Amino acid sequence: MDAFMTVALEEARLSMAEDGYPIGSVVVRNGEIVGRGRNRFLQTGDPTTHAEMEAIRDAAKHSGGDVDALLNGASVYTTMMPCEMCAGAIIRFGIARVVVGETQTYTDAGTLTLMARQDIRVEVMQESECIAVVEEYVKACPEWTQVMRARTRRRLAL
Ligand SMILES: [Zn+2]
Repeated sequence: MDAFMTVALEEARLSMAEDGYPIGSVVVRNGEIVGRGRNRFLQTGDPTTHAEMEAIRDAAKHSGGDVDALLNGASVYTTMMPCEMCAGAIIRFGIARVVVGETQTYTDAGTLTLMARQDIRVEVMQESECIAVVEEYVKACPEWTQVMRARTRRRLAL
């Protein structure tokens, strides 16, 4: 598997070890990871702590003050298709490329089209390990499937 997606997957596993949702993300700039994060909603109760948002926050902390320069043109790797909020942040901060680990467990709710329309390059890998970590989580917490299905019912009007 791609080295950056491997780190995103490590983040997903870290979250699962904390009884959180198994979603991880990294921000990559000039071939280096400049931010990493994992979904921490269950750990913190903060619904904005999605993996991509956390990776962007982490990158901002290490940006030396010029966060726009760091993020503009960067890549985001994420184990799952970004939701509407994260796609919005990706668009807002000028991310050029999004690499998605898999789209089988969380059906795209329109964000792939949304990002592609902003000329963001979206690459879907369908990594078996990214799928496996979600399946492992769902086995332990089957109710999450209902949460995810409920979310995918709301599609972006594009
Ligand atoms: Zn999100």
